[in-house]
Amino acid sequence: MKLYNLKDSSEQVSFSQAVKQGLGKRQGLFFPQDLPEFSRDEIDDLLKLDFVSRSQRILSAFIGDEISTEQLADRVQNAFAFPAPVTAVEDDIASLELYHGPTLAFKDFGGRFMAQILAQIAGEKPVTILTATSGDTGAAVAHAFYGLNNVQVVILYPEGKISPLQEKLFCTLGGNIHTVAIKGDFDVCQALVKQAFDDEELKQALHLNSANSINISRLLAQICYYFEAVAQISVEKREQLVISVPSGNFGNLTAGLLAKSLGLPIKRFVAATNVNDTVPRYLAEGSWMPHQTIPTLSNAMDVSQPNNWPRIEELFKRKGWALSELANGVVDDATTQSTMRELAAKGYISEPHAAIAYRVLRDQLQEGEYGLFLGTAHPAKFKESVEATLGQTLPLPVELADRADLALLSHFLPADFSTLREFLMERAPK
Ligand SMILES: *Cc1c(COP(=O)(O)O)cnc(C)c1O
Repeated sequence: MKLYNLKDSSEQVSFSQAVKQGLGKRQGLFFPQDLPEFSRDEIDDLLKLDFVSRSQRILSAFIGDEISTEQLADRVQNAFAFPAPVTAVEDDIASLELYHGPTLAFKDFGGRFMAQILAQIAGEKPVTILTATSGDTGAAVAHAFYGLNNVQVVILYPEGKISPLQEKLFCTLGGNIHTVAIKGDFDVCQALVKQAFDDEELKQALHLNSANSINISRLLAQICYYFEAVAQISVEKREQLVISVPSGNFGNLTAGLLAKSLGLPIKRFVAATNVNDTVPRYLAEGSWMPHQTIPTLSNAMDVSQPNNWPRIEELFKRKGWALSELANGVVDDATTQSTMRELAAKGYISEPHAAIAYRVLRDQLQEGEYGLFLGTAHPAKFKESVEATLGQTLPLPVELADRADLALLSHFLPADFSTLREFLMERAPK
């Protein structure tokens, strides 16, 4: 697989290089040189396969022979070890539930596949993933890399500033996962990580890698569950399918559009955002004008400079699609809450992100169309706001309940780079 840098197309890399590097020169995103396409018959055959076998074929169509079919098959099987069910909510609308993985959010798909690929290409030299988290990403990264050979993970988080359950979710694993509670806030943790990456000696000694969210391996993994959704929908509905994606950095939507470009029958997409609406305003007015980010209930979508947007523009250009065909809508917190109550009255408990996707879909779905909105996180992951909005308590899902009584294995360090450096150097592979 060849990829080019969207900011400088003369920089071309292999899939392995793109995964290791994350970003290209001038912080440019990597984008596939070839956009494979399946015929309608091939799509129909793919839709008959189980999730793992089908995903292996889809990923292999992009990645090619850089990773052998057998090895890729193993990696996909390890990564996609949980289901993505479609649950009917109304006659013409269903939810694609992407939150049945170990950390209860769709980021498990991309995170776990990226981890498997990094372990695959790391070779002899063990890699150290160093990252800072304010909660969610840390949990997904920790679980994704847990138990993998030749990769260790160091996660910094602000001591006392993440929820106790969140902390239990990823600071009780041990093994190759090292969690470090830093006396400081999230920005301090992030600054320490940055300092580490600027330290050449440290970088070399530990083979540091960031495993960040714009990694191409994540996007490719996310294509697979769009196929899984269509496979679960009846043949008549497939022709009239509209998919609504709750969007922050627009990675999820990029993956959906790539699925369509492969030939998957999706009539149209809806990009749903909270009041951080840079993209809807851009689509309406034609000018890119990010505002200050506003905190909302759907905080995973509190993004005013969506980092995957250049990939979407490139894909539309390459495919000759018109951006005017991308439906969109903006939902504020009050409407998010009333929508969560509306869904609960229909017997479906939802959290703020999925509720936003449902709202825009319900408002824009046309006669004869069939709508699917992405459930990006388990309601229990947003327990406080869901319980406050619905006035009811949620049971703890097993993924959280199982870890609630385990001992925390975190190290506690001051907000000081030389102390952190020492801690890391002690863990450098010999
Ligand atoms: C990350 C996230 C989103 C936004 O996804 P993007 O790919 O950044 O657009 C939506 N919902 C939840 C729960 C998330 O964690």
